[in-house]
Amino acid sequence: MHRTIIEPFKIKMVEPLSFLTREQRENLLIEAGYNLFLLKSKHVTFDFLTDSGTTAMSSAQWAAMMIADETYAGSKSFEKFQNVVNEVMGFPYVIPTHQGRASERVFFGHLVKKGNKVPSNNHFDTTRANIEYLGAEAVDLVIDEGKDPKNTFPFKGNIDLKKLEDFCRTHQTQIPFGMITITNNTGGGQPVSLENIKACANIYHKYNIPFIIDACRFAENSMLIKQRETNQNHKSVADIARETFADADGCLMSAKKDAMSNIGGFIALKTNNWLQSLKNLLILTEGFPTYGGLAARDLEAMAVGLKEVLDESYLEYRIAVSRYMVEKLNALGIPTVLPAGGHAVYIDAKSFLPHIPSHQFPGQALAVELYRREGIRTCEIGSVMFDNAAMELVRLAFPRRVYTQSHFDYIIEGLGDLVPEKAQLRGFKMVYKPEALRHFTARFEPL
Ligand SMILES: *Cc1c(COP(=O)(O)O)cnc(C)c1O
Repeated sequence: MHRTIIEPFKIKMVEPLSFLTREQRENLLIEAGYNLFLLKSKHVTFDFLTDSGTTAMSSAQWAAMMIADETYAGSKSFEKFQNVVNEVMGFPYVIPTHQGRASERVFFGHLVKKGNKVPSNNHFDTTRANIEYLGAEAVDLVIDEGKDPKNTFPFKGNIDLKKLEDFCRTHQTQIPFGMITITNNTGGGQPVSLENIKACANIYHKYNIPFIIDACRFAENSMLIKQRETNQNHKSVADIARETFADADGCLMSAKKDAMSNIGGFIALKTNNWLQSLKNLLILTEGFPTYGGLAARDLEAMAVGLKEVLDESYLEYRIAVSRYMVEKLNALGIPTVLPAGGHAVYIDAKSFLPHIPSHQFPGQALAVELYRREGIRTCEIGSVMFDNAAMELVRLAFPRRVYTQSHFDYIIEGLGDLVPEKAQLRGFKMVYKPEALRHFTARFEPL
């Protein structure tokens, strides 16, 4: 029996990694005002900024793109794409969009009115922003375990059913639809159990509230259900995915995640109730309903990707990457959010660098050091991003099918040298502080 979980693919096309010296990186850091968003990709060796749109596509996806039907209306590629969405998720009505937030804008644009409230476990930041833009409130009702980074509960993405029931009873007439995000990106890529999804659907439906799933990482969530939930291991991931959507009225999707594509998204629905109004809105900003802001070749890539993502050897490897990194980091004495989630690992910089207070940005200090030493680009999720941040995290989000086990081992080796020297790390001062979304453009100076 083999114990090593391997990359279940061979590599046909390669892109060289860029290697710089530590001195070169130090100079680039100074130029970028110590903001990793302001670095160029050619200066980054391992890019863990996001898993969004960074997937390596398969030979089958590239092949499908070559036979795309680039027709304005009624493309064959659209039909193929729609059939795959229906087969994988069980939703016959499909509206393509150029990415997840475009699905949000079109769907919310039709359904959300000023003064409405939309509950979820945790809204993703663009989801929240699109709801708030319409004068409504995005309400997070994740379970308490989901807010505690040390808690090892296996389904920390679950919604609090008691709070949800109270919320629906109190605000029923103001709720145009209810949501759940799988996996819970904001909460650390933590899964939601099938039991919780079904119970959540029952509560929404008891109050006549439509149930919409934010499905960006539905395949990772389905695999984590198979691995962690009682009585689910005997089912195929494809069956678990269909069960996940069975009680929902529709979903919003960013194809840049679990559709294994570099761009794209869609709205998928069980009935045609809202279809015509949504299509009318789509035509205003995205395009005709059989392409929705995409080229037909993107529809082809999504159609193939949505089936490939359900390959269990792929998902076993995918989930193993985060688990492996959490285990190795913890063994080095680098604390992380527990347990490992689907697409990313979150280092707890506050515990790792207790000598750097929050107002001196311990997450930024660690993110800068990871780039300086190893050329790794990560994302601070803490006091740089939010006022009054509850945690100081550094996120390593893993692109799909891009890096290999030896890349991860190489990174872990380098981090081993950082641990004994961590007391030398210093905090930062924010010398340019933009009004909104400041993490993208802020500049820093070392203290
Ligand atoms: C990425 C993401 C979105 C938005 O999708 P984009 O394609 O980036 O516009 C919405 N919800 C979740 C959970 C996401 O991870």
